[in-house]
Amino acid sequence: MSRAVAVLLCAGGSVRMGFDKLLTPIAGKTAIERSMDALISGGVQEIVFAVSPSTRGFVESLVCPVPSQIVEGGDIRAQSVKNALGAIAHADIVAIHDAARCMVSPETVRESILSAEAFGSGVVAGKVTDTIMQLDGEHVLPLDRSKLIRMQTPQTFRFDRIKAAYESGDLAAVTDDCALYIAAGYAPHFVFTEGEAANQKLTTGADWQLALATYARFGTGYDTHRLVEGRKLILGGVEIPFEKGLLGHSDADVLTHAVMDALLGAAGIGDIGRLFPDNDAAYAGADSVELLREVVRRIESAGFRVAHVDATIICERPKIKPHAASMQARLGEAMHLAPESVSIKATTTEGMNDEGKGLCISASAVASLV
Ligand code: MG
Repeated sequence: MSRAVAVLLCAGGSVRMGFDKLLTPIAGKTAIERSMDALISGGVQEIVFAVSPSTRGFVESLVCPVPSQIVEGGDIRAQSVKNALGAIAHADIVAIHDAARCMVSPETVRESILSAEAFGSGVVAGKVTDTIMQLDGEHVLPLDRSKLIRMQTPQTFRFDRIKAAYESGDLAAVTDDCALYIAAGYAPHFVFTEGEAANQKLTTGADWQLALATYARFGTGYDTHRLVEGRKLILGGVEIPFEKGLLGHSDADVLTHAVMDALLGAAGIGDIGRLFPDNDAAYAGADSVELLREVVRRIESAGFRVAHVDATIICERPKIKPHAASMQARLGEAMHLAPESVSIKATTTEGMNDEGKGLCISASAVASLV
């Protein structure tokens, strides 16, 4: 079996995005990590990271599950690739990949490696669906899109061939590896990404939005508290006049508890029982909206933002509807969401079950994070 090594380019500037696109987490993981994971799942056995002064520290702190090394990137992409190729001691196949193309699938990586084994190269590319015109001063020339393709990465080659192409080629004249491969006299073999999730490069704000949507996460939460006399009824951070209230260690705000569990579930960081143990005196009588703020703080520091919450309160009485707007406003503010992104509904159980008999109130919630 051949030995496949990846060159992962993490040296590009983020001038067009306004923030560091390679180091800002998308749903908890940076583009560098997502690209690294896809390359390893796709079959590479070693990674050479080409870094810039701004990405070096992060890459050095990464735990890479396969052998890896770090090289200094150059002023231009081709120089970074050349530096990385020079650091490879032994490889049959080299997959060269831009870290900013972090939505690449492991299947695409694997196909490009298999193509390079069979044909000497496996250059990932997309077909063109828009009509393209070439502007040449006053002259506009319509191009035949059936003859155009969009170059992507990974671009995977037999190591000896691409290394020689980089030694002899004019690095300043090209913007990708395939052009040097062609200049060295080889005919590239393409791997097309049709019918697959976008292998879009993170360049503009629109690309960033696409990445956020691609990695959106969902979670569910559910909670029940007993209705007793002599307690306030707090739902969604709002005190509701009623002859009974919910029993619990905190303020027993069953709706806010369900919402918190949905958020924690979506982020994959536990549940409220683990975060705020009910045998911890610190949380006795706690305002659950304050706990929600803490949950949101943790979610945001894990690289997520709350996108939407939908919740249902299950109770026979009191009527929820007159209070729903206040709950939406209070919970929304704590989650950094507009009230219209917090949906609060209510249902009865037609006198059945413990909710229907007025013994308890329950709530369920679904949350999405980007
Ligand atoms: Mg609870």
